[in-house]
Amino acid sequence: MRQKMAAGNWKMNGTSASLDALQALAKAHPAPGCEILICPPAPLIHRAAQSAAGTAITIGGQDCHSAPSGAHTGDTSAEMLRDAGARYVILGHSERRSDHHETSAEVRAKARLAMETGLATIICVGETLTQREAANTLDIIGGQLSESVPDLATGENLVIAYEPIWAIGTGKIPTMAQIGEVHDFLRTRLEARFGPGVGRSVRLLYGGSVKGNNAAEIFAVPNVDGALVGGASLTAEDFSPIITALD
Ligand code: PEP
Repeated sequence: MRQKMAAGNWKMNGTSASLDALQALAKAHPAPGCEILICPPAPLIHRAAQSAAGTAITIGGQDCHSAPSGAHTGDTSAEMLRDAGARYVILGHSERRSDHHETSAEVRAKARLAMETGLATIICVGETLTQREAANTLDIIGGQLSESVPDLATGENLVIAYEPIWAIGTGKIPTMAQIGEVHDFLRTRLEARFGPGVGRSVRLLYGGSVKGNNAAEIFAVPNVDGALVGGASLTAEDFSPIITALD
C-alpha cells in the first residue's frame, strides 16, 4: 500500500514570514491521511525544518549538486540539505532542465548522490506541448525515466512526478485519460526495470496546475499517488483542500 503524498514546491518564493503558512498548514492537518512535504527555497530549509518539527510536515529541497562538495559557487549539496533538516529533494524539475540546461544524465548523478546521502528523491519527467501534439509523450517520458533514475532506486528513496510542462502554472491540465495513460506507463516501466516489488512501491505524483477544485478528480485516476504542487502550495488556504482530497 503506497502512502499518498501532497508535495509543495515553493520555487523561488517565500521569506521567513512564509513560515506562518507552514504553521497554519500543520495546525489544519495534525493527523493527515497522507504525507505532506514542503520544499521551500534553500535559505529557508533549516528554519522550515525547525518550524515543522513535531508536526506532520516533512521538509525537502528543490535541487542539489551531483558532487558531494567543492568549488561550485551558489550550489547546495545533498549533505547540506540533510544537515539543514531536509528529507527529500526534487530533482530534474522542468524549470531546472530549461533554466539550467540540466540533462537527464546530470539528474541521475544528482539522484545517485542524494540517495547515497539518505535523501529521498522526487524525480520529475514531462513533455512539452509540441511533443504531446506530435504524439511523442510516452517516448519522451520513457527516455527521461530510464536516463534520470539511478539503479539504486527503491520504493523508499524514489518518487516520480509526472509534470507536463505545458500544464505547469498555466491553469491547463491533461484529460484524466491522458494522466492515467502516463501513470500506467510509468508504473509498467518501473516494474519492468526494478521488478514488481520495487516497481509497485514507487509513488507516482501528478504535477501541473493542481488546485483544490480539480484535485479529487486527479487523485481518483489509478496509479496517481498524490501531487507535486507549485502555485497552490504557497498558502495554507490553497494547499489545504488538496491535502484533504487525499485523506
Ligand atoms: C510545479 O512547478 O511543479 C507545478 C506543478 O506548478 P503549478 O502547480 O503551479 O502548476
